[in-house]
Amino acid sequence: MSSRHTISFTCPACRRMFTIIKWTTISPNDDPAIRKHVMSGDLFHHICPHCGKRMMIAYNCLYQDRQKKFAVSLQADRNQPAVTPLLPGYQMRLERTLLSFVERVRILDAGLDDMAFELYRTVVMTQVKRQHPERSVLSLRFDAVEGDDIFLQAGQTEQVRLPFSSYQNIADKVKKSSFHPKVSGYLTIHGKWLQQSGILDALKQQ
Ligand SMILES: [Zn+2]
Repeated sequence: MSSRHTISFTCPACRRMFTIIKWTTISPNDDPAIRKHVMSGDLFHHICPHCGKRMMIAYNCLYQDRQKKFAVSLQADRNQPAVTPLLPGYQMRLERTLLSFVERVRILDAGLDDMAFELYRTVVMTQVKRQHPERSVLSLRFDAVEGDDIFLQAGQTEQVRLPFSSYQNIADKVKKSSFHPKVSGYLTIHGKWLQQSGILDALKQQ
């Protein structure tokens, strides 16, 4: 079940207070519309009623999909563990920024293996840098899967369209490998995790 409450928030621009809805648990199963609001980021977008300042407001929350059996926890304080409950039988992920929280929900909602996707991201990033050395692409984020294509967002504005099979090849290799992450709680998957998890060794042994 989704849960939410209203809190007072001080606008960073005009220092006046207004109220926002703060979600503690977000469940797409009871309220399908909310799924889109999370995946677009709109749920966290607010406009100050006093000065019109637009802002994204991040806070601790949990996205829990009971059907697809995954949970993504947002805990913005890097020194703190996830504050959300352990959910046996779920894929549990912990994110530290709103952008990566939204992306993780998108990846898992699309049914992708997010560990394989992390590998895929580094492969595509290397290709983009090789093909366009003049561009400084700092980030590459999952956008969507549509038909036979996978769409990624490069930097702030650019979209990269690739055949879905380019991801699937890597996902198949990960599936065939003997790799299983050694964690019982919330897992944070990023570039450093790729190096430390043993997934690269498991793939080499194939
Ligand atoms: Zn304001």
